[in-house]
Amino acid sequence: MPKEKIIGKLLFTEEQIQARAKEIAEQIDRDFSGEDVILLCTLKGSVLWFSDILRYMKTDAKIDFLSASSYGASTVSSGVVKISFDPQVNMYNHNVIVVEDIVDTGRTLSYMLPKLEERGPKSVKLCTMLNKQARRTDDVTPDYIGFEVDDLFVIGYGLDFDQRFRGLPYISYLDEEDVESL
Ligand code: 5GP
Repeated sequence: MPKEKIIGKLLFTEEQIQARAKEIAEQIDRDFSGEDVILLCTLKGSVLWFSDILRYMKTDAKIDFLSASSYGASTVSSGVVKISFDPQVNMYNHNVIVVEDIVDTGRTLSYMLPKLEERGPKSVKLCTMLNKQARRTDDVTPDYIGFEVDDLFVIGYGLDFDQRFRGLPYISYLDEEDVESL
C-alpha cells in the first residue's frame, strides 16, 4: 500500500494488480505453449500492465506499440477515436495479443482490431487490465481480463486524467468532488 495520500478512491492495490497480472501471464503461457507470441501495447495507458504481463510470461514474446485515444481532458469519452497505427513487427501468421488498459465502450478496439486482422495474423487475442462492461456499446469481448470495474472514471497504474496520475502505483476512481479538488 502506498504511504502517501491516495488520490481518489482506491480500487486495486499494486499487490492485487501484480498478482492478477501473474495469473494472466501464466494463463497465456498455457494457452500458447510452444507457440510464438507478439504482445502489442496500446499507448499510453497500458504501459505498466503490459510490462507486468511481459515480465511474468515465460513465453518469449516479441513486442510492439500502437497508439489509440478517445479521451481528451475530460472524464467522458469524446467519441472520436484517433489512431496512429504503425507497429513495425511482422504479424503475418503470428499470434498477436493486444494489451489494453481498459475496455470501456469498445469503440477504440472495434476500430483497431479489424485493422490488425488485415495484417493476416494467425490469431488475435485481447488482454485488458480493466473491463467496464456496463458501458459497452460495441461488440468487443476481451479474452483475458484483469478486473471488472463499474461505470467509474479510473486513474492510476498507467491510466490518466488529462495526462496526470499515470505513475500512481494503484488504481482508484475519481468522483466529481475529487475532480473539483485536483
Ligand atoms: P473505449 O473506446 O473502449 O470507449 O475507450 C477506450 C479508451 O478510453 C481506453 O483505452 C482508455 O484510454 C480510455 N478510458 C476509458 N475509460 C477510462 C477511465 O475510466 N479512465 C481513464 N483514465 N481512461 C479511460
